[in-house]
Amino acid sequence: MDTMAKPDFYETLGVARGADEKELKSAFRKLAMKYHPDKNPGDAEAERKFKEINEAYEFLKDPQKRAAYDRFGHAAFEQGGPGGMGGGFGGGGGGFSDIFEDIFGEMMGGRGGRRSSGGRERGADLRYNMEITLEEAYTGKTAQIRVPTSITCDLCSGSGAKPGTQPTTCATCGGAGRVRASQGFFSVERTCPTCHGRGQTITDPCTKCAGQGRVTEERSLSVNIPEGIEDGTRIRLSGEGEAGMRGGPSGDLYIFLSVRPHSVFQREGADLFCSVPISMTTAALGGKFEITTMDGARSRVTVPEGTQPGKELRLRGKGMPVLRSTQFGDLYVRITIETPQNLSKRQRELLAEFQELSSKETSPESTGFFSRMKGFFDTMSD
Ligand SMILES: [Zn+2]
Ligand SMILES: [Zn+2]
Repeated sequence: MDTMAKPDFYETLGVARGADEKELKSAFRKLAMKYHPDKNPGDAEAERKFKEINEAYEFLKDPQKRAAYDRFGHAAFEQGGPGGMGGGFGGGGGGFSDIFEDIFGEMMGGRGGRRSSGGRERGADLRYNMEITLEEAYTGKTAQIRVPTSITCDLCSGSGAKPGTQPTTCATCGGAGRVRASQGFFSVERTCPTCHGRGQTITDPCTKCAGQGRVTEERSLSVNIPEGIEDGTRIRLSGEGEAGMRGGPSGDLYIFLSVRPHSVFQREGADLFCSVPISMTTAALGGKFEITTMDGARSRVTVPEGTQPGKELRLRGKGMPVLRSTQFGDLYVRITIETPQNLSKRQRELLAEFQELSSKETSPESTGFFSRMKGFFDTMSD
């Protein structure tokens, strides 16, 4: 009923319609902090804003609901609306605390979302930047990399407790790792301040890892770089990131790959481009030259008679390999034409003689251009 009066979800959060998940989240976070009832006690306007912000985020963070909202607006969530998306914010139990855990879990408890029972915590994802040459991208390779990373402590098997001793259950949270606290008109779950979410406290820490359950080491990994890989590719090595805390799963290792620019070839997808300067006479009379291609072979390029600058000659299959296929792109040789310089007297005479013998047929492009130009100025002066 009050569909019309309801503010636009995107406007409520102050984001563009194309905002991605991260932008939504950060906008929500900022506003939620600002209008949080705890910060604005007794302010009904702030409370209303806070509800609006929560509602908007509740819908936009869910890709399905967001798609429905984008198509149908608020009508998407009215009773009996398309897709049966009824039961919006506050209806049916999904309340504030759910959202709060979602968003603030991370803020309050470090990596709240990743925590599992017993204080086990997933290790962080790691990033490794790797630069390869175009030749390496062509042939593919196995690269050995050394990654400083933390691994599970072997002395305590990751428990963090001195061998022979056991971690004890946290007295504050009873092992849950989280405590509930009343905030304004709803209650919030927080990471336990005593055990920092672990649910356990270690009285006798392991000497090797100081109770962390993991130690830092450099590991050697071999990474397979497939043929035809493109600049900007991310390779994910699952479970090769930082070790988890107290027996939690390891994070992932992401290799961010960049391909160094080549001195001769430019790449566009699987195709390669290169510029080759030829002499004016070769361009006019036709001829041949050889170039070395990425496979190390020499390829003969035929220049047809009367070749103009900018002409692209295609060498089929001489481009880059297509990733995960047996195909190859093409190599385009872009012709540039070098105008002769430092002419001898004899050369000058020959060219002057050539000039005298030239006609419309010898240079149709320029003849055409100048006659068009003339026509243009004639209409201007009318
Ligand atoms: Zn240890
Ligand atoms: Zn605790």
